[in-house]
Amino acid sequence: MALRTIRVEGDPVLNKVCRPVKEMTERISTLIDDMLDTMYDANGVGLAAPQVGILRRIVVIDVGEGPIVMINPEIIEQDGEQTGQEGCLSIPDKAGIVTRPNHVIAKALDRDMKEYTIEGTELLARAICHELDHLDGHLYDELAEGPLMDVTYDEDEEE
Ligand code: ZN
Repeated sequence: MALRTIRVEGDPVLNKVCRPVKEMTERISTLIDDMLDTMYDANGVGLAAPQVGILRRIVVIDVGEGPIVMINPEIIEQDGEQTGQEGCLSIPDKAGIVTRPNHVIAKALDRDMKEYTIEGTELLARAICHELDHLDGHLYDELAEGPLMDVTYDEDEEE
């Protein structure tokens, strides 16, 4: 297990388009383990490879129902609409209001490079859209309504 450094907005790696994964290697497998560790350590619900400086099409997500690993993911269907608060580990202590599809179906490869489809609504749909945007160099603040808000998750903390 290893934690990787989460890149924050302003780091040019976050605005690049990632390359697909062609085969599962020891290196990619370790990267996925580290991404999961890093996401859980940061209390995030998702993390994309460019957020740890790796330009590969890999995301990990856990909305409280267990880890999801998506390699070379693509959204194949989306519908509905949800508007709500969204944050990103690469834009610490901020949140914004973003409208996303309320329902998505995506396909991706799993860790054995086998294709599967996943269907998500509400938070999972939002997380899939948010994380997949990272793979094309986009952060949620491009979609947010108005300026981002300051948020702090530790109520005892005084600044
Ligand atoms: Zn993000």
